[in-house]
Amino acid sequence: MKTMQTNVVTPDGSVFDGQVNMVSVKTINGELGILPNHLPLVTPLAIGAIRLKKDKDVRLIALSGGFIEVRQDEVNILAESAELPSDIDITRARAAKERAERRLEEAKRDNIDFRRAELALKRALNRLDVAQN
Ligand code: ATP
Repeated sequence: MKTMQTNVVTPDGSVFDGQVNMVSVKTINGELGILPNHLPLVTPLAIGAIRLKKDKDVRLIALSGGFIEVRQDEVNILAESAELPSDIDITRARAAKERAERRLEEAKRDNIDFRRAELALKRALNRLDVAQN
């Protein structure tokens, strides 16, 4: 099966570097699946899971936003932050979720704090999702 060299990098370093058959990401416009020989592309990513498929193996990474660049048989994901399931601190994510939920109850809808809490809640739920999958 054909593969693509795939890199996931954050400001702290590399989270994944290897050959995969398929990359699935959540762009700001919806889900996107990349197979080898995909057209070149650069697009912003939303908070969501990255799915990396290699043969029968599927690996998930929690992504909190960034960009994907697709080139001939090469995929680069530049992430604001990204964690493998084994690197996710569930206690911390649960605390972040509860903190965000509290803030959503306290803040007014049009407030910047409300938007911030919404994003924090999405990041926390995404981490819990990826860690527990
Ligand atoms: P928190 O409120 O717990 O800091 P956050 O969503 O605000 O969560 P980010 O700003 O997205 O955190 O990330 C800051 C750094 O902390 C990144 O390096 C990210 O990978 C790491 N990080 C955040 N939450 C977790 C977690 N639950 N487990 C492991 N690493 C985490």
